[in-house]
Amino acid sequence: MLGIKYLKTLGLITTALILQACGSEEQAAVSDVATQPQQTYEWKLVTAWPKNFPGLGNAPEVFAEKVEIMSAGRMKIRVYGDGELVPALEVFNAVSAGTAEIGHGAAYYWKGKAPEAQFFTALPFGMNGREMESWIQYGGGQELWDELYEPFNLIPLPGGNTGVQMGGWFNKEINSKEDFQGLKMRIPGLAQDVLTQLGGVPVNMPGSELFTSLQTGVIDATEFNGPYNDLAFGLWEVADYYYYPGWHEPGSVMEFLFNKEQFEALPADLQEIMRTAAEAASLDMTNEFTARNTISLQELVGNHGVELREFPDDLMIELNRISQGVIDELADLSPIGAKIHASYRDYETNVKEFHSVSEEAYTRARKL
Ligand code: CA
Repeated sequence: MLGIKYLKTLGLITTALILQACGSEEQAAVSDVATQPQQTYEWKLVTAWPKNFPGLGNAPEVFAEKVEIMSAGRMKIRVYGDGELVPALEVFNAVSAGTAEIGHGAAYYWKGKAPEAQFFTALPFGMNGREMESWIQYGGGQELWDELYEPFNLIPLPGGNTGVQMGGWFNKEINSKEDFQGLKMRIPGLAQDVLTQLGGVPVNMPGSELFTSLQTGVIDATEFNGPYNDLAFGLWEVADYYYYPGWHEPGSVMEFLFNKEQFEALPADLQEIMRTAAEAASLDMTNEFTARNTISLQELVGNHGVELREFPDDLMIELNRISQGVIDELADLSPIGAKIHASYRDYETNVKEFHSVSEEAYTRARKL
């Protein structure tokens, strides 16, 4: 009894101290939650993936489940797959307009709306996943991303990371840059501009259409993600060679989108629950991809006889050279493009210097 009484007293003291320490805004938020009737919400989350698609489609489900539990049922979120409410490539518009309150996709899909958005997924021969996420969280990336999406009435947050992707599925060998001439390849983001410079024909296409398009010759080659997702789409059945590495996507950041007006109208605790659930779902995806890509690559090669090929060094050097030029062109698009480019390049220069004596040095050392 004494113990409980002591704890209760301690609890009251702690609460009093917290209230004293809080600013008036936070105090108001705390008292709102305590005194107002608990409003419940039912929100829609539209995604750029088939419903329950492994990895990419799992993150929004994890997010929705966590939000419902953490909010004690005050926020229920229904997750829609590609085409169930809107098509994959309409997610940005749907959340911007408030047709759905939340979206999950990847920023480079919206290059038609805002080409600068490509900075926030992955750039060809750019920063890897760990570098990207640290730039967003600690290097000023998030603030720039917020600024870019503000005119669209959207708030973006990282929504998972694929890690370094694979180079893609081809039905002919790729030995030099000439092999890209006339090649119709599904590839997203800034790598499209690189492919164009090589005389190739980049195609924008959601994952759900890849198998049939490759099978019927609508496209000659495609990339999607890594072994886990590529296995799920069955791409090994319609292509001869599986190339690596994914020079065009060295660690793609996925994206949660929130309708800004509706998000900001939520009580402060629900906003924080959403942010925390997004962070948890994001980390979960990153780890899931590493674990399941490992197993899936073994299955592709061991059970399905997939032929792995590494892109030749000469080709990588040439693609890197073209990619750096294409990245720098983004700086000339707009004042915000110049700002994001400067921040990205500055962070990249510094983090690469550190990683050359940490990540890269270790990777080299363990292969000796
Ligand atoms: Ca990809």
